[in-house]
Order: sequence, then C-alpha cells, then structure tokens
Amino acid sequence: MELLLVDISKNYDDQPVLKDITMRLSPGIYGFLGENGAGKTTLLQILTGLTKPSQGEVLYNSKNILENLAAFHSELGFLPQDFNYYPEFTGLKFMLYLAVLKGLNKKVAKKRCLELLKWVGLSSMQNKKIKKYSGGMKQRLGIAQALINDPKVLVLDEPTVGLDPKERVKFRKLLSSFSQEKIVLLSTHIVSDIEYIADEIFILKDGQIANHGTAAELVASVENFVWEVVVTPAELKKFSAKYPISNQKNEDGTIILRVLTTKAPAANAQPVQPTLEDLYLYYFREEQSDD
Ligand code: ADP
Repeated sequence: MELLLVDISKNYDDQPVLKDITMRLSPGIYGFLGENGAGKTTLLQILTGLTKPSQGEVLYNSKNILENLAAFHSELGFLPQDFNYYPEFTGLKFMLYLAVLKGLNKKVAKKRCLELLKWVGLSSMQNKKIKKYSGGMKQRLGIAQALINDPKVLVLDEPTVGLDPKERVKFRKLLSSFSQEKIVLLSTHIVSDIEYIADEIFILKDGQIANHGTAAELVASVENFVWEVVVTPAELKKFSAKYPISNQKNEDGTIILRVLTTKAPAANAQPVQPTLEDLYLYYFREEQSDD
C-alpha cells in the first residue's frame, strides 16, 4: 500500500501555497508540523482528493486518485478541521446516519458503530446529544466517524485542537493502536502531539518541506544550535533582541536562557541537548531575531 505525491504545487490567486512537494508514504503515522498558514490543510485536502493541485498528482497504489475518486474514497477516512457535528443528534444516531450514507447495510452499520464508539471510549455517551459532549468527546467522535468504512488511509486535520492534556494522551494512545496497517496523516502546530506518535515528521514551511525525519533525526539536525546561558536581568533585553530564545527560567535573581544560535552566545554559555520544541523554534522563529 502506498500513497505517492509527485511534484505537487498549489496556487491560490497566483500566490504559491505549496511548491513542488514530492513524498512517498507507506503504512505508518506521518505528522505535518507547521505554523498557521503553512499550507497543511491545503496539502491534506489535496491528499484526500477534495482539492485539485495546480500541478502534480497524487497516486494511491499507482493510480491517480482524481481519476479513481470513488474507489479511493471508499478506502479513505477523513476528519476535517471544521467538522460539523449535528448537535441535536446523539452520538450513535450520528454514526448510524453516516454509516448508511457510506453504504453499509443497517445491521452491519449498527454493529460497526457500537464497536467504534466503544473503542473511542464513548459507549456511555452514545445516547446523549452531541451538544452535551466535551471538546475531547467530539474529537473522539470525529475519529470514530472517520473509521466507519475501515479506511486504509486516515487523514486527520488538526485533530487535537481543543483537547486538554489528558485527552491528548488518550488520543495518542488511540492512534498508536492502529498504525500498523494504515497510512495515517495528521497535521498540527503543537509539537508534543506528534513527537511521540509520528513515525515521520514533515516540517512544512512556506509551502515546502523544510525538513523531515523521525523526531530523533530532526532533533539531531539542530545539535550544536542550543545553548544555556545565565544572564542578569539587565542583560536579558540584549539577548532577547539578538537571539531566538526557546525558554527562560528565573532562579534566585539570575535568569537562565535557552538560546538558539550556531556559536556560543557568551563565554559562560553551555551547549545543551536540543528538543523538538527547539527545532520548531529554529524553523519558525520571529523574522526580526533571524540573524
Ligand atoms: P495551514 O493549514 O497550515 O494553516 P492552509 O493550507 O489553511 O494552512 O493555508 C495556506 C495558505 O493558503 C494561507 O495563506 C491561506 O490563506 C491560503 N488559502 C487556503 N485556502 C484558500 C482558498 N480556498 N482560497 C484562497 N486562499 C486560500
């Protein structure tokens, strides 16, 4: 099973949003990380066949998805960013409604929906109206509906928006439990959401893949870029103006800064082990501190 993007570009009103993106995806979890406006949603929509690229093609098992859209959609699950939840429906009724739309017969649909609701931990809520659900419950329902047709390709656009830390952990566990035989793609601008679950992370910046690899590989690429330096309150402003700062700790009147730069920023600076948060900041630091 393989999803292949070949030279994908997309323009909106002559403005390039995606530029020449090529990637080969086999079963596993892939995370797309980037700032708002980086092009994540556009890329995911092109991957689902909902948006046409200006150039290039997406091949699923060697076939162009746009030329085989119905067949591709029968193997695709999608959680869009602005998912509409039918607040007056109960969770179960909503699932059954979608299952019938997807062509399952009623008996099969009921069994499948009950199983999925159980799997995402919503059995006790299945007869309650969706408007009573918490953000995390709605998001889990969104994942359940994306799985109704037992998809081989699962696309989740910003699936952890609005989840509290406990719900995030639950969500990660849920995803990890079915990665083996599916191609799972998710977008986020929250580093910790994909640090532990994505087999491969793509950093999307200005419509291009700025870097990709496992979390460990990406972190290794910014080794020697991260320093800790102790400064006085008076020195803080100077450092903040000159360097991207990924963290600041105040201890007994002194300040410990985590600074991103290629050379030691001060005589007393110590090189430290980078994290994925540092890497994110390295790519998405403010323009004015770019030196
Ligand atoms: P992300 O998901 O990373 O936040 P998007 O793919 O939503 O990024 O947006 C990338 C860029 O494309 C943004 O500048 C956005 O304004 C623009 N864009 C997205 N969709 C449209 C559209 N339908 N028409 C015009 N511009 C769009």
